[in-house]
Amino acid sequence: MNTMCLVNLNKGDRKTRNLLELIDKLERDKALSYKEWVKLIKGESPEIRDYACAKASAVRDAVYGRDIYIRGLIEISNYCKNDCLYCGIRCSNRNADRYRLNKEEILDCCAQGYELGFRTFVLQGGEDPHYTDEVMVDIVSSIRALYPDCAITLSLGERTMESYRRLREAGADRYLLRHETANEEHYGKLHPANLSCSNRKQCLYNLKELGYQVGAGFMVGAPYQTAENLAEYMLFLKELNPAMVGIGPFIPHHDTPFADFEAGTLEQTIFFLALIRLMLPGTLLPATTALGTIDPKGREKGFDAGANVVMPNLSPKDYRKKYELYDNKIHTDSEAAENKRQLEKMVEAASYRIAAVRGDSKNM
Ligand code: SAH
Repeated sequence: MNTMCLVNLNKGDRKTRNLLELIDKLERDKALSYKEWVKLIKGESPEIRDYACAKASAVRDAVYGRDIYIRGLIEISNYCKNDCLYCGIRCSNRNADRYRLNKEEILDCCAQGYELGFRTFVLQGGEDPHYTDEVMVDIVSSIRALYPDCAITLSLGERTMESYRRLREAGADRYLLRHETANEEHYGKLHPANLSCSNRKQCLYNLKELGYQVGAGFMVGAPYQTAENLAEYMLFLKELNPAMVGIGPFIPHHDTPFADFEAGTLEQTIFFLALIRLMLPGTLLPATTALGTIDPKGREKGFDAGANVVMPNLSPKDYRKKYELYDNKIHTDSEAAENKRQLEKMVEAASYRIAAVRGDSKNM
């Protein structure tokens, strides 16, 4: 009996040692093979996670210091022509109370944000056909003219190369487009048939070619996601080498086909933040609202795993509840842009500091 325990313990130790060595290797080579990724992802445990987080936090300190960059998030529309199965603003959700912001409302948000110290504005929305190239070029060039010292980030989904080019010429600097999953079959389980993983990836490469700082990313714990899928995401991220990577836990929305699926976990999200920081040391890594939603200390834990960005909500207050991608999305406390003082306190208590600068990526 005793001997058996000893044998198991030794075996366990060896397995743990191998996994810790994989993390050392990732830190050293900034890459792992597909097989190694699968092994590391399947081998996640509190000890492995803590080890990865400590290393990732040190890497972030070396590259970016303890500065946390802030982005003012303006949710410009919850109309969407797409029907992504996970998303609360999918077109077939008849219960979504739809709104869209006009140019004046968006410029008002920017003015308030600038006053509060934001030097990056992120315009995010569903794929709303109202925002043609003409409409968006007018909005982007107005922001560009009024705020030459600010970065303009767009997150408006898939558009044509020509459209991305016109928006870039109008003054947009960055574009967030999560790849969601790198595997065509898994992509098909999360999206309607008219959307494809290959087009999503092509959009990311097009954006890069046009000189945008590009952000990819995915939901941790999305329905049907396997360790093998996650390993593929890491290889794809390595190849794309994006300026930013946005990841957060999947959280079910009650009016979607995925209402009854489990949410992704805090632990696995933290683990992936750390792994991404180790693989892409200079990338910008937000501690997302979804992470703050599943755990009251989620964003602080994100910083301790290597994250260095937060995106407080600058949208007009009346609309925030309506941009409901998932249930219980936080929108009233330190994630609200007007509560920046509260955010500063939270960040300082976690031994970081808010930097009121553009905060460009060191992975460009
Ligand atoms: N229409 C834009 C913006 C999408 S919203 C686009 O296509 O890029 C931004 C991100 O929210 C999505 O990329 C998705 O990863 C995330 N999201 C959507 N539904 C979610 C859910 N139920 N749980 C967690 N994150 C979700």
